[in-house]
Amino acid sequence: MGRITLDKVRKAFGDTEVIPPLDLTIEDGEFVVFVGPSGCGKSTLLRLIAGLEDVSGGEIRIDGKPATDLPPAKRGLAMVFQSYALYPHMTVRKNITFPLKMAGMSEEEKKRRVDHAAEVLNLTDYLDRRPGQLSGGQRQRVAIGRAIVREPAAFLFDEPLSNLDAALRVGMRLEISELHERLKTTMVYVTHDQVEAMTMADKIVVLRAGNIEQVGSPLDLYRTPRNLFVAGFIGSPT
Ligand code: ADP
Ligand code: MG
Repeated sequence: MGRITLDKVRKAFGDTEVIPPLDLTIEDGEFVVFVGPSGCGKSTLLRLIAGLEDVSGGEIRIDGKPATDLPPAKRGLAMVFQSYALYPHMTVRKNITFPLKMAGMSEEEKKRRVDHAAEVLNLTDYLDRRPGQLSGGQRQRVAIGRAIVREPAAFLFDEPLSNLDAALRVGMRLEISELHERLKTTMVYVTHDQVEAMTMADKIVVLRAGNIEQVGSPLDLYRTPRNLFVAGFIGSPT
């Protein structure tokens, strides 16, 4: 399960309204990409969903249940951070197990989850290494593994590939798409990169200054952009 609905969600920092009231539904199992130029509010919107920022108004529901006032750990969502957030002194196994520390589950269950994540991510042979002994792509996979073990209702990604070089970015893009195919879990993915949006998304949400300009499949947006901003951003012929 991983249906997320935003009902008139808004966010202001002081007097500055960064997200005007906005409605959005993310369906269970969907790969949704928030795309738009730098500063348009993508990270803020994702952080509101994650519970890392409080809304200034409106309601968030996750699988029908009110989540607006729940702390991040109670929302059943997992934010995927960039690979530099790994603990360098811990093995890959320990890094991936870390989010389960407080979960109060048996050691067997933890091991089962970590082994499953490692298998899905092709990290089984690397569990005893430390992050410093891995490639950039492998480190990013460990960071994703930390989200997988929590078996979240949805994965939240904030520009996870922006620190990787161009070649690695293409590979990781495919890996994340494959992961979505395999797990079929809702993914909400923030990027300013049109190519990532067009190739990965089931549904693209185009943001400008906190407003949703258009929501649709990559093909919808390409064929029938609602305005010049969307057309320009998506790269439609005009
Ligand atoms: P994006 O991720 O699309 O680049 P952000 O969501 O990070 O955009 O930022 C949207 C706007 O909100 C920007 O103008 C940014 O300066 C502002 N903003 C973000 N976080 C804060 C904060 N904690 N305090 C004040 N302003 C913020
Ligand atoms: Mg951002």
